[in-house]
Amino acid sequence: MKKETNKYIEETKKGLVHTYNRFPVVLEKGKGVYLYDTDGKKYLDFAAGIAVCGLGYGNQELNQTLKDQIDVLTHTSNLYYNTTCGKAAKALKGITGMDRVFFTNSGTEAIEGALKAARKYAWKKGTGRYEFIAMEDSFHGRSIGAVSVTGSEAYRTPFEPMLPGVKFARFNDLNSVKALVTDQTCAIILEPLQGEGGIHQASQEFMDGIRKLCDEEGILMICDEIQCGMGRTGTMFAWQSYGTKPDIMAMAKAIGSGIPVGAFAMTEEVAKYSLEPGDHGTTYGGNPLACAAVAKTVEIFEREDIAAHVRKVGAYLTDKLDILTAESEAILERRGTGLLQGIKVKEPAGEIINRALEKGLLIISAKDNVIRLVPPLVIEEKHVDEMMGILREIL
Ligand SMILES: *Cc1c(COP(=O)(O)O)cnc(C)c1O
Repeated sequence: MKKETNKYIEETKKGLVHTYNRFPVVLEKGKGVYLYDTDGKKYLDFAAGIAVCGLGYGNQELNQTLKDQIDVLTHTSNLYYNTTCGKAAKALKGITGMDRVFFTNSGTEAIEGALKAARKYAWKKGTGRYEFIAMEDSFHGRSIGAVSVTGSEAYRTPFEPMLPGVKFARFNDLNSVKALVTDQTCAIILEPLQGEGGIHQASQEFMDGIRKLCDEEGILMICDEIQCGMGRTGTMFAWQSYGTKPDIMAMAKAIGSGIPVGAFAMTEEVAKYSLEPGDHGTTYGGNPLACAAVAKTVEIFEREDIAAHVRKVGAYLTDKLDILTAESEAILERRGTGLLQGIKVKEPAGEIINRALEKGLLIISAKDNVIRLVPPLVIEEKHVDEMMGILREIL
């Protein structure tokens, strides 16, 4: 390890609150679907900054747009209009089919906003409903509101008391959801494909059932598309492959290609009774730079039909993983779809991930001892082959 590599690590360890157990690697630059550390070692990236860098690294068209925007105007307040915000909103409306967008700075804030929008809707409708039904093994972020609807006790317990009125149902078990509905149920929140929680995909039946239940009971359906959205499952948003449109949805991660930005969006029907001037706001949200990133990202995704590319490479990855799963004693199960896939392994996932790092492959874990594969969406079949080669070697 080079001297400066150690210096970066020591500096970071001394300066930051110790919340991340980082790998002893200092990433310095990226090109295509590869990252390079400060020792000059090359890594094939199947993590993409946790499903953020959909376009990989060094996309010249995107970078030029960002550079140009920085030279013109990086930030201004939401007290004024700017030149990119409307364009980014139009782009997101186009790909989501939603009617109104609010820009945030992260996924967590998109969830917070979605929860507030749902509560405001109930308040304005005069129902006073406040309860949320969330799913076991879900992940929605780390603020008190978002963690309150996150189905992982380890993330919640040290920070109790949580938001009152949150109940957890079993994912893909419609009866367990129905059993929790009361006349106070405000919204049901779910990821169509759970990422962090172990790569669990909603069944068609479950998504249909949730939509029907919400319609019948006057409950809002909130989809968290932060990880599974933006082309990752082979449609622009995961709910679109089910045909079950939510009332409110949250986005982040890949929508800004690495510029910190999130958004929540709602139908006009919800917007009519929801957030009004003074109800919600953020200083950075929807600033010129973030919105330039969103507008350009959407433009590239549509022009290059990234979702279709994901369907093709995702199917290839599925085949390869299924073959390995059948052959290998080390893998119990393959999960997920498109380029959000996982393999449940016998050995501790952490040890496999460390061996992959040694061999120049970046992979991450998910709950339930799953190795999570969330590469840049622009990977090619040859990159899948390269990844599979390393995986075979280390399992
Ligand atoms: C990452 C993630 C979040 C939180 O987003 P941040 O940008 O980390 O705040 C919420 N929901 C899901 C499904 C996520 O994957």
